[in-house]
Amino acid sequence: MSEKVIIFDTTLRDGEQSPGASLNVPEKVEIARQLAQLNVDVIEAGFPISSPIQFEAVQRIAGSVDVTIAALARAIEADVKAAYDALNGAGSFRIHTFVGTSDIHIGEKFRDSRYGKNIKEKRASILKMARDAVACAKTFTDDVEFSPEDAGRTDIGYLAEVVEAAIAAGATTINIPDTTGYTMPAEFGGIIAELRRRVSDIDRAVISAHCHNDLGLAVANSLAALQKGARQLECTINGIGERAGNASLEEIVMALKVRGDFWGLHTDIRFEEIINTSKMVSAFTGLVVQPNKAVVGDNAFSHEAGIHQDGVLKDKRTYEIMTPESVGLPQTRIVLGRHSGRHGLATRLKALGYHLSDEELGQVYHMFLDLADKKKEVFDDDLRVLMGDEILRRQDYYELDSFHVSAGTTTPATATITLKVEEQVIRESAHGDGPVDACFKAIDRALGLDTNMESYQVRSVTAGREALGEVIVRIRDQGRPFTGRGVSTDIIEASVKAYLNALNEARAATCGTGSNMKTTP
Ligand SMILES: [Zn+2]
Repeated sequence: MSEKVIIFDTTLRDGEQSPGASLNVPEKVEIARQLAQLNVDVIEAGFPISSPIQFEAVQRIAGSVDVTIAALARAIEADVKAAYDALNGAGSFRIHTFVGTSDIHIGEKFRDSRYGKNIKEKRASILKMARDAVACAKTFTDDVEFSPEDAGRTDIGYLAEVVEAAIAAGATTINIPDTTGYTMPAEFGGIIAELRRRVSDIDRAVISAHCHNDLGLAVANSLAALQKGARQLECTINGIGERAGNASLEEIVMALKVRGDFWGLHTDIRFEEIINTSKMVSAFTGLVVQPNKAVVGDNAFSHEAGIHQDGVLKDKRTYEIMTPESVGLPQTRIVLGRHSGRHGLATRLKALGYHLSDEELGQVYHMFLDLADKKKEVFDDDLRVLMGDEILRRQDYYELDSFHVSAGTTTPATATITLKVEEQVIRESAHGDGPVDACFKAIDRALGLDTNMESYQVRSVTAGREALGEVIVRIRDQGRPFTGRGVSTDIIEASVKAYLNALNEARAATCGTGSNMKTTP
């Protein structure tokens, strides 16, 4: 029997820290349910003390998903307590506490003289913080994970001391984060090997790796850690996360599966749920997967060169090391239309991993009929963006009532927009450089805003002239980025919805519901 590797998914915590990605609570719960379907071992659901929304998300996930739920806490009693308060409705939960241990982190975060006068004294206080936080977490649960943040750049002797103290205090998982994505695979594997040599009770804890992808080495570093004895890997769907992201779950688990002969290790992942999970996360976060991405990219199983196509037709194994079916990529496209009915739609959404109440299904069904009228054939990807765009959205503050545009090659574009803001109806017109620009200017004028637009992207969700267009808009408000998405068969309408969506996100954040505590392992 091969040894098991624990898959710790942090899509909802580290992944959600991707610049511009923000998920609301119902979207997070839906993703957590799909992660349970994928059969990950631990779901890190958030960082409860960082904001009320984070707290609520962890609490809701803990109450609705039957997987071990983890929450993040700095090595501070109030953080650990908040994590427990958010988690205690879960059937099984883990408190994950962390503190920075590299000299750079110590110098910056613990500059205050109460931590000590020099690096030696500061190191001693941080070691004590780690020990106390683990002991505190231990009063709430047996399942405690400790991370020395920026372990990749921490002095190995000190790292071993901190790890030893955390284990002595009761940590059952020791996670080694390469927070900045700085290490090379052999070097990172060496850190794990060295800890196993130096820390006396290391076998009392599971060693874990948490690798970032700044140099494109997150998966390689994670695998190097496995080779030296780590038995938990932290990863995210599609590799999303801070900056260049985290190690991608699908790449890790498929490497272990396809090369089972090499590894002799296994995971409990249900591989055929990979594509559904990847597409749900992409649709909800608005982070589009690059076409050449391993395992889940659109081109991952396309063969272009004639000689390759010919080979694959004769025997798939000539150019294919895994089959699209094995990761859940359907080989026939299922098409819904007006006549599919409510039951047909419900069955298809369920197959794609969505869980809807009757009321929500009623809402989606209306939108689905609307869409089916416009475009006749409705594909899986259409349903996914509908779900991402409309169903789980919070009540909007700025709402679109209607718009009118006129544009052409000989006249300047003009737009008139009617918005609903609470009970008020506001109408404004503006000229612009094209109809989309005119709409945005009319919105700014109506709301008295002068928003800084960072990016505007439009893409077609599926092929064909009637395809749904998805627009993703990124704005910056008080120094922070906000993303909005909108879909419609009309790209001007999609653009207006995306812009309003981003403004609604920014407004929700400034009203105190967004997260701004962004320094984590
Ligand atoms: Zn991280």
